[in-house]
Amino acid sequence: MHIDQLQNDFTNIESDIARGPIFPSVSPEEIRGHLASHYDFTKAIALDEVIADVEQMLLTWQVQVTHPRYFGLFNPAVTFASVVADTLVAMYNPQLANWRTSPAGNEIERHTLNWLTEKFGLPRDSSATFTSGGSEANLSAVVVALTHAFPSYGEFGLQHLTAAPAIYLTTEAHHGYNKIAHMSGLGRRALRTVATDSQLKMSLADLKRRVAEDRQNGLAPFMVVATAGTTAAGVIDPLSDIATFCKEEHLWLHVDAAWGGAAILSPSLRHHLAGIEFADSITCDAHKWLSVPMGAGMFFCRHPNLAAEAFRAEVSYMPRKADGSPDDPFTTSAQWSRRLIGLKLFLALAHHGESGYVDMIEHQTRMGDLLRELLSSSGWQIINTTPLPLICFAREGIDTSKVLSALRENQIAWMTEAQVCGTPVLRACITNFKTTEADIHWVVDEMNRLVDQDTPHREPQLESVAPVHAIHG
Ligand SMILES: *Cc1c(COP(=O)(O)O)cnc(C)c1O
Repeated sequence: MHIDQLQNDFTNIESDIARGPIFPSVSPEEIRGHLASHYDFTKAIALDEVIADVEQMLLTWQVQVTHPRYFGLFNPAVTFASVVADTLVAMYNPQLANWRTSPAGNEIERHTLNWLTEKFGLPRDSSATFTSGGSEANLSAVVVALTHAFPSYGEFGLQHLTAAPAIYLTTEAHHGYNKIAHMSGLGRRALRTVATDSQLKMSLADLKRRVAEDRQNGLAPFMVVATAGTTAAGVIDPLSDIATFCKEEHLWLHVDAAWGGAAILSPSLRHHLAGIEFADSITCDAHKWLSVPMGAGMFFCRHPNLAAEAFRAEVSYMPRKADGSPDDPFTTSAQWSRRLIGLKLFLALAHHGESGYVDMIEHQTRMGDLLRELLSSSGWQIINTTPLPLICFAREGIDTSKVLSALRENQIAWMTEAQVCGTPVLRACITNFKTTEADIHWVVDEMNRLVDQDTPHREPQLESVAPVHAIHG
């Protein structure tokens, strides 16, 4: 494949997006009307024409998560190398269900995952697989942990158990665990909420108290989910302390590091994840802070035999595993047919190198620090404490949802509202390695102008204000 044309397209799309708007204004009727009147699928349409129309729709009818002033929900700007990878995958359509159908694809994934396994400090023989996203990885963790704690679960199911299994997490943990508890048959009430301390971290004392109390009441605690980088406030639970407790109590420790896990690459951030090396399993999403297109989650498990037990499968129609050949992914993880998900991380990593990734991660961290500083020095109150580039903030007498809509309407920046300790706050997360200092300064200036009624409002600025950051593509 020759990438010049694709590189051109990538650069053009990027500058179209930078010109805005970041936030669409469209009704379902408008889109449905357009689709219904142009696409009844009765006649073929030239590909050029369809592509032009689809691009127009994507440019105008969605939140541009790759915009440098999208300060949103862990959706990254993507590197060019990772886009090339997804294009190649679509063209060659590798099937990774078993090893022999795509030895190349399987070994590329294994090589990439081994590299991260080592960064996390897990044993070399841990199992690791790419998943559709963090939710599948977290579901896998629950299923493997159940398989470990309750040997009859795999054959006879939960109804065979004499005590109800319980999982411990905080209200700051990802809300997907509610669905996971539902889907796995545990039931949503199997989730036991542990209190948080003043910084929103899991309280070890409360964890201990609840586990003891639940055991006394006949429940069967089996798993603790610690979050490294919570969704609302970017908080990292005390991993080492939780790990020690889990070891004493024979509880499975799952570290959900879907976003924050990428910090393990940075020499200046990685100590915040200390203790992650004791995890029984880890979730980390490449499609978050590792800046590749969706969907690319990863599930790491320190006990390869347990993953193989939980996801075992034997069928006559699949190519049989040759003696001595590596395990087939369809027998060690949740998916059956599967894309070569890992190529986008492999290619980006090979192209930028580890140091390129460290630069991208640390740049975003610096932009987060700058945003925090500028907000704080201009009268905003910073609500959360985290080393990661996620800032929750508020201001006396200011209605956050009004500020939020004004920010969006004026195309200043895309942010969200979060509830922190029951109070609504504004939440801004740096998810783009091309966001510049000038972008940050401009956004804070505009926000201050918005809340300061005396100053006349400037025209909304639709272009990213500064030249694209040096780490390009
Ligand atoms: C994003 C996220 C998830 C869900 O992952 P998806 O990739 O969206 O499925 C789970 N946990 C945490 C901490 C997350 O940040």
